[in-house]
Amino acid sequence: MNLRIIGRSSPYAGPGEAGIGYVIENEGGYILLECGSGVTAKYLEQYNLADRQGVIISHLHPDHSADLFPLGFAIQHSMMQGLRKEPVPLYLPPGGVEAFNAALDCFGGLQKHYAQVFKYQEYQPGVQIAMGAWKVDFNKVYHGVNCHGVVLEGDKGQRLGYTADTKMGPELERFFQGVDLLLCEATVESEEQAEKTNHLTAEGAGKLGTAAGVGHLVLTHFLPGTDGEMKRRRAARHFSGKISAAEPDAVYPVGG
Ligand SMILES: [Zn+2]
Repeated sequence: MNLRIIGRSSPYAGPGEAGIGYVIENEGGYILLECGSGVTAKYLEQYNLADRQGVIISHLHPDHSADLFPLGFAIQHSMMQGLRKEPVPLYLPPGGVEAFNAALDCFGGLQKHYAQVFKYQEYQPGVQIAMGAWKVDFNKVYHGVNCHGVVLEGDKGQRLGYTADTKMGPELERFFQGVDLLLCEATVESEEQAEKTNHLTAEGAGKLGTAAGVGHLVLTHFLPGTDGEMKRRRAARHFSGKISAAEPDAVYPVGG
């Protein structure tokens, strides 16, 4: 089971970059986690749309969802070419289907079109779902909007946690306890900013990694131009295990 970084940039994608998007892959297929701006084109450099298990969106802020619009057209194209027969399962937060359809309505009444390429599902915190060989759990995080962290468990028990966007909060340590790899946002530079914007600092990511006893901490969700090595050093003040700053196209193994 591997994690591939499609893009780590927020709140917009800088030159040559993609916004927020990750792929979790194993022998049986792959999941696209988040679909920020530019993710569809970067994704298609490595993958096709034939055997994708589904798409998970943590929340509908555009840095995580804007490329669902071009992705829908790419799926339609792959269906026209005979590469794919079924629509792609799209997992949205509770209430997300109505909200996404309202957005499609604004773009010219596209609901019917997208209903043919996405199979909409709404996940619920505390309710495990199966996606291919993965078991997937969700938990509300602390972003001031309807945003959910995710834990994916592979067929050999390997576990990947993803904080999505969040400030520090009591549930995080419990939900991500003992994951082999924690993909953790480390957006802001100060505690004051963290509190005001509902994000984490790199120091906060390090503290969470230690509290949850994670194996490998991968920092992400950076403003374009951010020095990832500097983020890594800051997290290392509070976490003694392996730390990486997410790099576009990097692949990180999850567990054994
Ligand atoms: Zn974000």
